[in-house]
Amino acid sequence: MDIQSLLAAATDGHGAVNPWAAVAYLVSGVFFILALRGLSSPASSQRGNRFGMIGMTIAVVTTLVTHVPMKIGDATNSYVGIDAVAMAEILAAIGIGAVIGIVMARRIAMTAMPQLVAAFHSLVGLAAVAVAAAAYLNPLAFGIADAAGQIYTVSRIEMGLGIAIGAITFSGSVIAFLKLNGNMSGAPIMLPARHVINLGTLAAIIGLVAYFTFDQSPWVFWTVTALSFLIGFLLIIPIGGADMPVVVSMLNSYSGWAAAAMGFTLGNTAMIITGALVGSSGAILSYIMCRAMNRSFISVIAGGFGGDDAAAGAGGAKEQRPWKPGSADDAAFLMSQAENVIIVPGYGMAVAQAQHALREMGDLLKKEGVNVKYAIHPVAGRMPGHMNVLLAEANVPYDEVFELEDINGEFAQCDVAFVIGANDVTNPSAKTDKSSPIYGMPVLDVEKAKTVLFVKRSMGGVGYAGVDNDVFYMDQTMMLLGDAKKMADDIVKALNGGGH
Ligand code: NDP
Repeated sequence: MDIQSLLAAATDGHGAVNPWAAVAYLVSGVFFILALRGLSSPASSQRGNRFGMIGMTIAVVTTLVTHVPMKIGDATNSYVGIDAVAMAEILAAIGIGAVIGIVMARRIAMTAMPQLVAAFHSLVGLAAVAVAAAAYLNPLAFGIADAAGQIYTVSRIEMGLGIAIGAITFSGSVIAFLKLNGNMSGAPIMLPARHVINLGTLAAIIGLVAYFTFDQSPWVFWTVTALSFLIGFLLIIPIGGADMPVVVSMLNSYSGWAAAAMGFTLGNTAMIITGALVGSSGAILSYIMCRAMNRSFISVIAGGFGGDDAAAGAGGAKEQRPWKPGSADDAAFLMSQAENVIIVPGYGMAVAQAQHALREMGDLLKKEGVNVKYAIHPVAGRMPGHMNVLLAEANVPYDEVFELEDINGEFAQCDVAFVIGANDVTNPSAKTDKSSPIYGMPVLDVEKAKTVLFVKRSMGGVGYAGVDNDVFYMDQTMMLLGDAKKMADDIVKALNGGGH
């Protein structure tokens, strides 16, 4: 078979799915499933990423081979060839994207990962909007309209959903980015009458998407687009503090559904498979996060419907109360005398990159005969699994790392809880103060330990949710003020030099 007949077999000129492409897309789908499986544990995550890359390469090459060839010539003398201009444009776009991606991946700090993920989700949403708009403006080129330019009903539904989900994903992710990047406060922002505004906007979007199936006028299409951008913004601004992790995984899920909707518009099976995989795995992750946070999925999705206005006011409340300062030497002495030490890492440990020094500290304590365990809260840090990844990077043995429900009962018997850069995840107000934005979230019971050593930079700094923490002011708490890495290094020095 020569190249021209191969190309002719691979395409009908509009890239309708042919059996060879379908098989290739199926294979790429299998690689994506293997990738998700690999990403479920730090040990196999690199393999998972490799599977993902192979799957994506197969999908991209297949799409290029089946879409870029075109019929050239007239009705009597046509042949299939590569559309050189289109190919050059696509390769240039891939090249530019690859350069930006490589530079960002090399430069990005581990702590900025969550906002990078939010930024990527926003791009997926924007791409869905762009594809839907292109298909709307030129439906014949996409093969989704009859000769009179009337878009098929099913395509109008796909397009309406694609534009709505895509726009919500875009504006929601932009707000999530600003909150995670610190450009907007992490505390909930409650607009007056937001329930009425949100419900009204949502009802208008659903009504207009339905109306779009009867009337494809530009005003319907562009109003759905504008309202969807608005609702994405409105849904995410009231979500604060403890609920942000759920938002990030929820937007991840939306970006998948937006991609799947694009896949229907473009008739691309790989996008439908990949979109559905991302959409459903994101939804499962959101559900797991909600359960871990003791939140209802619906209340988080509905955008702060669960929280009341008093909660927003609680953010930032700080009191002047007496507290006890301590030094690295004090901490080294107390911990080396202890039988059981539980280390609670949080976002500050990630910022300071203190994981290696922390592991060294743990190793030295173990040499002294101390029983050392690490307690991981499901939302510690700024992304799911943040602490597990950092501790794994520092070679902390997996059998010393415990999830909240497996270790919370042990704080009452432990001599020292060593809290390093964590705050919200230890805040007992989540258990008692109904007006707290983190009320109801399960927290690590560090206040039950005989001694609490609390590492943070200053008494002025608050956690992500912006609330004060009673643990700072308890009798058994010693505040170790300073950068987490420096403090852990100093404790290591004291343990080495102290001759315990
Ligand atoms: P917090 O954000 O509650 O607290 C971080 C603490 O670290 C603060 O007390 C801060 O105090 C301290 N800190 C910051 N930098 C340093 C440093 N260089 N050295 C020492 N200490 C430092 O963190 P947690 O991990 O306890 O809680 C996570 C919060 O983030 C939760 O509210 C969670 O809902 C939210 N969140 C989680 C996501 C996830 O997926 N895991 C995603 C989005 C939000 P100071 O400034 O005084 O140093």
